[in-house]
Amino acid sequence: MAKETHEFQAETKQLLDLMVHSIYTNHEIFLRELISNASDAIDKLHYQSLTNGDLLEGDTDFEIHLTPDADAHTLTISDNGLGMNKQDLMENLGTIAQSGTKAFLEKLKESQDADSTDKDLIGQFGVGFYSAFMVADKVTVVTRKAGEEQAYKWESTGDGEYSLEECQKPKHGTTIILSLGKDFYGDDSEENYTDKMTLQSLVKK
Ligand code: ADP
Ligand code: MG
Repeated sequence: MAKETHEFQAETKQLLDLMVHSIYTNHEIFLRELISNASDAIDKLHYQSLTNGDLLEGDTDFEIHLTPDADAHTLTISDNGLGMNKQDLMENLGTIAQSGTKAFLEKLKESQDADSTDKDLIGQFGVGFYSAFMVADKVTVVTRKAGEEQAYKWESTGDGEYSLEECQKPKHGTTIILSLGKDFYGDDSEENYTDKMTLQSLVKK
C-alpha cells in the first residue's frame, strides 16, 4: 500500500480548527484524554483476551508509557492495548461518530464567549483524541491491532487531512508521538510538556 492522503470529515475539520487555534485554554487535558484512550484500549484487549488468549502475543503485562524528549520536542504516549487496523484508524481518527459533535462545537463557542471554560466539555462529548492538536503541531500514530500483522502510521498536522501508510510494529498497541508546538516545550515555557515534573504532577491529577 502506497502512502495515502485522506480528508477529515467536515465536522472533524471544524473541531480541529478550534483545537489548533486553541480557543479552549485548558490545554493540559490532552494528557488525560490520551491516557484514558490508552487505558480503554488495554481494557478492550484484556476483555477480548479472556476468550482468545493468543491476542496477548505472550505479552501479559499491560503498560502505558509517557516518554518526553526535550531535544526532539516530542512527547510520546504508548500502550500495549488492542491497537487499530486501517479501518479502525479511518473510522476512529478521521470522523466523529457522535451526533453530539455539533452540540459540542456550539458549547465550546459559548464557553469561549462567556470566558468560562468547562473542564469536562471535551471529555463529555467524546472528542478526546483531537485535543492532542491543542499542544502538537503534528500528531503521529503508529499502531498495530492485536492478532493482526500489518501496522499503520497515521499522521496529521491538523489542517484538514491525514496520511496513512503501512509500517512495522513488533508489539501490538498504539504509540502516539506529539511534535509539540513552540509554546509547549523548553525551560522558558509555562507549559513544558517535555518536563518530567510537569508530567508527573499532571498524571497524579
Ligand atoms: P472516545 O475515547 O470518547 O471514543 P476519542 O476521540 O478519545 O473518543 O477516541 C476516538 C477513538 O479512537 C476511540 O474510541 C478508539 O476507538 C480510538 N483510539 C484512540 N486512542 C486509541 C488507542 N490508544 N488505542 C486504540 N484505539 C484508540
Ligand atoms: Mg477518549
